[in-house]
Amino acid sequence: MNVEFNLNELKAADRLPSPSGTALAIMQLVQQSDATVHQVSQLIKVDPALSGRILRFANSAAFGARRPIADVETAVMMMGMQTVRNFALSLSLIGSNSKGHCPGFDYEAYWSRSLAMSVAISAITTREVTVVSAESFTLGLLGEIGSLALATAWSEIYGECLGAAEGRQLLELEHEHFAIDHNALSLLLLADWGFPVIFLDALKLSFETKVPGINRTDQFAKQLIFARLIGNYCVADESQQAALLPSLIAAASLHALDEAELLTFVDQIIELWHEWGKVCDVKTDARQSWQKTVATLRSALSGLELLLVDDDPMMLARLSKQLAAAGHQVAVCRDGESALKHVIEHRPQLVITDWRMKPMDGLTLCKTLRASAFGKNIYLIMLTSTEDEDALVEAFDAGIDDYVTKPVSLRVLLARIRAGQRIVTLQHELEKESQDIQRYTAELATANRRLKLMAHTDILTNLPNRRYALSRLEQESAAALRTKQPLSVLMLDLDYFKSVNDTLGHEVGDQVLTHAAKLMRTNVRSNDIVCRLGGEEFLVIAPNTNGATALLLAERIRNAIEKNQLRGLVLPRPITVSIGVAGSLGAKPDWKELMKWADDALYRVKQGNRNGVQLAYRDVGKGR
Ligand code: GH3
Ligand code: MG
Ligand code: MG
Repeated sequence: MNVEFNLNELKAADRLPSPSGTALAIMQLVQQSDATVHQVSQLIKVDPALSGRILRFANSAAFGARRPIADVETAVMMMGMQTVRNFALSLSLIGSNSKGHCPGFDYEAYWSRSLAMSVAISAITTREVTVVSAESFTLGLLGEIGSLALATAWSEIYGECLGAAEGRQLLELEHEHFAIDHNALSLLLLADWGFPVIFLDALKLSFETKVPGINRTDQFAKQLIFARLIGNYCVADESQQAALLPSLIAAASLHALDEAELLTFVDQIIELWHEWGKVCDVKTDARQSWQKTVATLRSALSGLELLLVDDDPMMLARLSKQLAAAGHQVAVCRDGESALKHVIEHRPQLVITDWRMKPMDGLTLCKTLRASAFGKNIYLIMLTSTEDEDALVEAFDAGIDDYVTKPVSLRVLLARIRAGQRIVTLQHELEKESQDIQRYTAELATANRRLKLMAHTDILTNLPNRRYALSRLEQESAAALRTKQPLSVLMLDLDYFKSVNDTLGHEVGDQVLTHAAKLMRTNVRSNDIVCRLGGEEFLVIAPNTNGATALLLAERIRNAIEKNQLRGLVLPRPITVSIGVAGSLGAKPDWKELMKWADDALYRVKQGNRNGVQLAYRDVGKGR
């Protein structure tokens, strides 16, 4: 696939991670020059989880408040509206992107590492007193958002890239497939979300391996590189950590930390990382669960993982030796309690337990296991000295799967274990099947998303289509009403377009449409949405824009189309466009009326000389 990268197009088609709910409202509010701390606080209070996290943040060491902050309004005042806004943005992105469909992209690990980096950069900037550490926290958290964005926008293809590439090669593959790499996309998104330029410059520098300079931006870039190393270290397992340590120590020396100081510093960061993990619902123990997976995989390849429980040490020693010789991995416990502990920690596949033990006997052990989530599927064999019917019924009622009488015949025990192994294997297959079903469901969801995308995209110009345009306009109109922002629409219609088709054919007509669509897209601002309504009619939705400003935007598009004629074509007359503009504020007019106003204004341009722009009468009257 070869695509030309276009951020607006992806945004318009809802294919990027984007802030939601309260965060979006806060971002829009803070954008207004007259937004007050009180207004922002009111919005935050609507979301109790966000309020709690903001208070937690304002009171954290990274923020460095001198006295406890107990209410949201004070927190907002102390943090500053920009920081609050970025903080809300980061949290909302975690919330809505903790899972996804890109195979090979580990969403949990992504956020876990980002959070570690975020805590690290915040600790480093606090220690070295360079940029505001509260701000750097959010930059750390979103510094690699481009990867997540690629995984979200092109889950399947990106999954293939991840599988095929490593390190620098991945950047090249990304360029090949998406015309952009994850680092560049991170920068684009952060710029689009309004992060300060100094941060973006430093982030960009930090993607290089060496930063030579010593000015403020260079310093911050070096801190980011150091934070990234610490983030990698936090999420690594022990052997990986050992491999990462030399480069970490080398980087630390640039930050005036010797080896011992570095380890203390990293320990503090790891502790904060766990704490923040709880606050932000991000897993910080992925490492352990990964180790667990490796252990499970290993056992599936050999014999069974057995636990043998008996209070007779001689019996334990003999049986465990014999079972190990038969190819099983055997662990031993001498009483019910320690057996329970072992099962919780190591999840064996089969437990063989004696009946009579103290203080917890085999029967109680079985009952306890069956009652718990971790023990309900384990295969249980009871060693019993009696075949008394009542006793056996009691044992089966307690949850055993099988029994072997004492004195134990090894041949019989091994045969019973084989029977158990069949069940364990079946269970394993069932689990795998259910995972497959989950995977198919995820793939189906991806396919559905693609279908939805197709249903929302115009094939010729790749612009969002009429269906999308109308629902988006309705959405934007509701948002404008909520945030008391103006909203404008531009209705565009190419002039004498029929004559292009008539003289040069439909195919050339299509080329002209594509060319004009591209010019519209490149001449609007990042927040404007260009759609093709049908035929040679287009709509631009301009959020946060009043009629007068929208008129300037319309003139820019008109001029661009007039000045950039498609080369190599001899047309009956130059391609031009007529544009009608209408703006709203508050509830009036509603979005349908707004389109009608713009259409009326367009009609007036068509009545005149075409190739012009007009603002709806009602807008002119109000001087907006
Ligand atoms: P006006 O200046 O009044 O807008 O004149 P016009 O010729 O542009 O307007 P009219 O509505 O009469 O004609 C629109 C033409 O657009 C008619 C149709 O053949 C052509 N058209 C609509 N959709 C497509 C398309 O997808 N491809 C091509 N090539 N032409 C299209
Ligand atoms: Mg028309
Ligand atoms: Mg036309």
